[in-house]
Amino acid sequence: METKVNAVVLRTADYKENDKILTLLTAEAGKLTAGIKGVKKSGAKLKFAAQPFCFAEYVLTERGGRYTVTNASETESFYDLRTDINKFYAASAAAEAVSALTYEGDNCSRLFYAFVKLLSEICDGGESAALIKFLTFALKISGYGLALDNCGECGASLLNEDKLRFDFDSGAFTCFGCGTGAGASRVTYNVLRKTENKPYDEDFITADGEKRALRLLREYISYKLGVSFKSLAEYIRLI
Ligand SMILES: [Zn+2]
Repeated sequence: METKVNAVVLRTADYKENDKILTLLTAEAGKLTAGIKGVKKSGAKLKFAAQPFCFAEYVLTERGGRYTVTNASETESFYDLRTDINKFYAASAAAEAVSALTYEGDNCSRLFYAFVKLLSEICDGGESAALIKFLTFALKISGYGLALDNCGECGASLLNEDKLRFDFDSGAFTCFGCGTGAGASRVTYNVLRKTENKPYDEDFITADGEKRALRLLREYISYKLGVSFKSLAEYIRLI
């Protein structure tokens, strides 16, 4: 049976001498795995479709529950992501998070459109802010949303506290005295609130604020999903 899907490549793996196995995030059919033949040969017609972050309409043939890509027409190559190392790792970090947050067969259309928008924003620059926004959104729609309002224990405002705590189990910030979570900075709290369009204090956002927020997101996602999140570690090292 033949189906057409709008999809973006999350991951590629070599298979046999000339083939690859792609992990695709599709708008219509969630995340799925599909083989693509002959793409390592020079001049292969579908070489483009087996590149990381390629966004295309893929024609898939299903046989015995396995998909094979038989044709593709490119919507957007996001070429800049493959030529700029910071952009590449920012996009890879998002792809790794998407892989960890989705299961084959789940409907992921909101995540698909958010991911495609993120890739376009990364190409345009400002990748850290775009990545923080995307990861926060992806966590929220997957049931792991961060609580960025008042203290999760006593309800007091955290905007003027110098030291906070972040609880990795509940995803909530608390006053330092109230909680038992890991120490967290108000810089991180304010950067995350800014990302979510909540009131924040610009005076508390330092030059390394985005890096700190990404460090917290990395630890939180690793803790919740049991993934090492190497590409985000590499991106944080680069910025
Ligand atoms: Zn409190």
